[in-house]
Parts: sequence; C-alpha cells; structure tokens
Amino acid sequence: MSFSVTILGNASAIPTASRHPSSQVVNLNEQYYLVDAGEGVQQQLIRRGINPLRLRAVFISHLHGDHCFGLFPLISTLGLYGKHTPLDVYAPAPMGEILESHLRYFDSELPFAVQWHEVRTTQHELLMENSTLEVWSIPLRHRVPTAGFLFREKQPGLNVDKWKIEKFRLSLAQIVAAKRGEDVELDSGEVISNDELTYTPYSARSYAYLSDTNYSAKAAGLVKGVDLLYHEATYAADMQNDAKQRGHSTTVDAAKVAKLAEARRLIIGHFSSRYKEHDMLVEECREIFPATDIAVEGETFVIERYR
Ligand SMILES: [Zn+2]
Ligand SMILES: [Zn+2]
Repeated sequence: MSFSVTILGNASAIPTASRHPSSQVVNLNEQYYLVDAGEGVQQQLIRRGINPLRLRAVFISHLHGDHCFGLFPLISTLGLYGKHTPLDVYAPAPMGEILESHLRYFDSELPFAVQWHEVRTTQHELLMENSTLEVWSIPLRHRVPTAGFLFREKQPGLNVDKWKIEKFRLSLAQIVAAKRGEDVELDSGEVISNDELTYTPYSARSYAYLSDTNYSAKAAGLVKGVDLLYHEATYAADMQNDAKQRGHSTTVDAAKVAKLAEARRLIIGHFSSRYKEHDMLVEECREIFPATDIAVEGETFVIERYR
C-alpha cells in the first residue's frame, strides 16, 4: 500500500515568483487528502497530474490566507467538474461561516455538499477515521488558533507464522484465534502464547504536518516516532526573536522538534520570501537533525514500510 506526500507549495504569506503558499497532497493507497490550500492550489494539482475529483477531504491548519485562500476556487471548480459526492473540510472556526458565505454568493447551485467539520485547535483528537487511516489534530502555537495534523496508517492485523502453523499443526479455528491475539491451546493441552505464534507484518506509517507554529515540545510529544515530519522553518537561526514574536519557527526550532519527536525524517518549508535559496536553511537543521531535506515543490516523499 503506497503512502506518500506531494508538496504543492512551500512559501509563506508574501508572494514570490517561483513558489506557492502552503499545500500538500497525502496519498494513502490512492486515497488523496489535501492538507492546507494556499492560493494557486488548483494549478499546482493540475501540474502534478492529480485530479481534484479524487480528493477525499481537505484539512486546513488555520485561517491565514496563505493556508486557505485556494480552497474557494477549488470548490467552484469541483462544481464545474460535476462532483456529486460530499467534500469534507476539516478546519478551525469560523470556516463554517466563511464557507456558507462563499456558497451563498458564488456556488449556490453546487451539485455536491460541502461538509465542514470543526477542528478544535486546543485538542489532540481523532478527526477522521476509515479502514486504513486515522487523522489526528495537533495543537500548535501561532497567532491565531492553529492545528497540525497527524496522518497515521491503521495498525495492521497480526500474521501467523507459517512455520509455526506446520510445527503445531494448527487448525483453521486456532489460526483465526491467534490472529485475534489469543493464546492457543493445542489438543495435547499445551498452551502456546500468542507472541510465539504471531508477528506484526510491518509497523504503521505516519506523516505529521506542523504548520505555522512557535517551537512546541508538546507537539513533538504528540507526533513521537513519526516517519515523516513536515515542520515550518520560516526563518534562519539568526532570527529567533522575530520568529518567536510572529508565531513562527526557525530552522533550529524545526530540527529540535524533529529530534525530540524521534522522527525518522524531517522536511522543512513555509520559507520567508527573504530567502532566495534554501540550502543554508537545510544545513542549519542538519547540524541538529541530519535527516533533513527541503519540502521542494513538486517533489513526492514516499514513506517506506519498516518491519
Ligand atoms: Zn503561513
Ligand atoms: Zn499563519
């Protein structure tokens, strides 16, 4: 089952000629989820060959324009494309009101429903769940109510070791019981512990997006062990005071969160327009957290499976 993240935008609020504001697409086994929707997100989807009709839901971290101004034209376009299934939008309040106004004035005859789900930005809670995926909110520290998101693959079921099936001549009923996590009693009366019979085929993979935020040890704790962490790094290390005042992070903040979270890999974005090239930013992170890369627009980061 594939699990990847494609970066659509890595810029912050002030426009630049070559980059787009925040947005990514998470793809879990061909189920697509849009995470933030900065201006120009539709064109970015087209450039990356992602049909917007395939989006199952949209997650908006906070109501700053560089994270949500692209949502409204996208909704209009989905209407033109004839979408008929509901679009779920997870966002902090008052997105419900904003969507209502948009629908009233621009999309009053939309062929599908837009369902807003409030993200309570002070809560770490399960927002969405299906058979393969859970999405959790991560409270962040920004100038307005903001939440990051943790996408976590569902824990796979137990597999029964083939060799043990033969060794203990397990019946179908015993195999099923072992898969449920139970110990198995053999015909001889001997009890074989579940640990001896089963194994987890792989560990569930995860992706966390910590959008605009000050350094937060709490957020790091909530994404502990994450495979791929996207953390904003609006500023270089020498702008720590400005970052703090403006509710943003430096490279050092991002790297410290990745280290504390014991993330497998860090990608950084939301760069200030003052930086024309970003190698220096990634180098600053690597001094603290070596497995750091830039969230390059158009690049797809595949999250591998580990046993
Ligand atoms: Zn922003
Ligand atoms: Zn912001």
